[in-house]
Amino acid sequence: MKRILLVVVVVFSTAVSAQQTAVASRTRPAVEFLASDRLEGRDTGSPGERMAGDYIAMQLARAGAKPLPAHRDMFMPFEFTAGTRDGGSTLTIRGGGGQQAFRDPEQVQALSFSDDATINGPVVFAGYGLVVPESQGFGYDSYAGLDVKDKIVLVLHYFPEDTDAKTKAALARYSDLRYKALAARQHGAKGLLIVIGPRSPNAGQTLRMTSDTALSGSGIPAATISGAVANAMFAGATKALAAAQQELDSGNPHVPGFTLPSQIDLTTKVVRERQTGRNVIAYLPAANVTADRPWVIVGAHYDHLGHGTRGTSLAGKEEAGQIHHGADDNASGTSAVLAIAEKLATTPLRRNVMFTLWSGEEIGLVGSNAFVMNPPVPLNQVAAYLNFDMVGRMQNNKLAADGVASSPAWARILERANIAAGFDLATNDDPYQPTDSSNFNQAGLPTLFFTTGSHPDYHRPSDTADKINYEDLDRIVDFAAAVIQATANADMAPAFTKVDPPNTGATLAGVRVTTGTIPDYTTEAKGLLLAGVVGGGPAEKAGLMKGDIITEIAGQSITNIYDYTFALELLKADTPVKVVFMRNGQRREVELTPAGRR
Ligand SMILES: [Zn+2]
Ligand SMILES: [Zn+2]
Repeated sequence: MKRILLVVVVVFSTAVSAQQTAVASRTRPAVEFLASDRLEGRDTGSPGERMAGDYIAMQLARAGAKPLPAHRDMFMPFEFTAGTRDGGSTLTIRGGGGQQAFRDPEQVQALSFSDDATINGPVVFAGYGLVVPESQGFGYDSYAGLDVKDKIVLVLHYFPEDTDAKTKAALARYSDLRYKALAARQHGAKGLLIVIGPRSPNAGQTLRMTSDTALSGSGIPAATISGAVANAMFAGATKALAAAQQELDSGNPHVPGFTLPSQIDLTTKVVRERQTGRNVIAYLPAANVTADRPWVIVGAHYDHLGHGTRGTSLAGKEEAGQIHHGADDNASGTSAVLAIAEKLATTPLRRNVMFTLWSGEEIGLVGSNAFVMNPPVPLNQVAAYLNFDMVGRMQNNKLAADGVASSPAWARILERANIAAGFDLATNDDPYQPTDSSNFNQAGLPTLFFTTGSHPDYHRPSDTADKINYEDLDRIVDFAAAVIQATANADMAPAFTKVDPPNTGATLAGVRVTTGTIPDYTTEAKGLLLAGVVGGGPAEKAGLMKGDIITEIAGQSITNIYDYTFALELLKADTPVKVVFMRNGQRREVELTPAGRR
């Protein structure tokens, strides 16, 4: 308790003395405000995010920046899926002369990726509902010998409990509920029920709905049921649920499933909660535009993780649920962009410089994606995008500039600006970084991304304003302003070079081929929406392009990224497969030849 009091006193007194110092840091006030408890971690769509947005707009106006032409204010709202909850799913068991109805979430609850539907029919128990592809050199198929077509499948959560470590590892990868839903759908089932077996952890409980898989439906109604509901369905069956699980838990792949005596009615309903976040956008007009591509965009995300409840928090057990202050991530970048605006306001410019402060970055680059999908200025009028994410923890004079290979102009511009700055500059070619600049790279624009790198406080409540290196953050502002000025005032806009992503296709270790597709993770689509294709890769050779939506590959229907990842495991290098996709609302087919993965 004493220690906490002492910290409060120290922070308070440094804040006061900073205000009194004659040569104050240009970046400190904004970081301290944005990372303060009042803003509660600036979660996208939250009151703290709105307060931060208002503050940023005020600071931009103070610096002399204006709303974009034909815009009344600096706010660009966008919608996003904030979470999912059950919208009142129900299940009725009919059989044995009576019926039992369930509507309590403790008894029946839709899975977050469920389709909304009302179905009825017989129920087939299909063990753990696991299907491991032959290509894995390990045979396991819960559906072998079972006819589940137009029936509702009931499966156990997880994978057999009593097997050896190696078998567990092989099965675990296919036990994701998404895979189980896919397997059920591909065997013709019209619905899927999940129960946690009596021999597994949290036995008999329904699963809490998570929002991580909320973006797209799985193409099948799917619900989790309690042990009590499952037992009611097993009433009169040849085997009880506990006995069936015990047999399966040995890992023997030849324990068959069976049809249950009861018929059920199932209604699944998922409410996807839409919320609004806000990008803040302003610009400094050029004195008179005399150059091609008359816009340069300078951006940073200002949102952070709130109380860290959405899943990307790295908070330890004892810090869980606390405010994630996000001083370095990314009050530092936001503050840098504000200070850059102030600095550039007094210099003559040959291109308009737009300042974009994004929200929705932490939930999947959603704000900048909304901008790129619906740009307020045509993107072919934009010369380049420069991004700042985590620039407040400089150590040993080291600054990283990523995406240098996205234009032949960057190396020289950086080198020149660094003569005055004198940073130990680490340049990196790769423009595919997990930050907003990747959206602009995929849109075909030269990008640069500045960062001072990660640290032990990353995505934890302890990323606080007192740990920021303001002196060096101010130096980054001066250096970046010089880079932006050089870009804005160059006769020719920097040329764009397309860089191949270092790692493409699926992320599962078992995938041994690449199709050269770049999935769009941020937009909802029935199928796999392509954010782009790798230059010279199989998808480009097949004629696929950005905006196409793949709905089928090698005979496997695709409704989402999980289906696609699963389908990739079945492909063989150099063996052509048929790809069905939608382009501008029209169904098309091409042949694609996957390449082996190095
Ligand atoms: Zn960040
Ligand atoms: Zn972050």
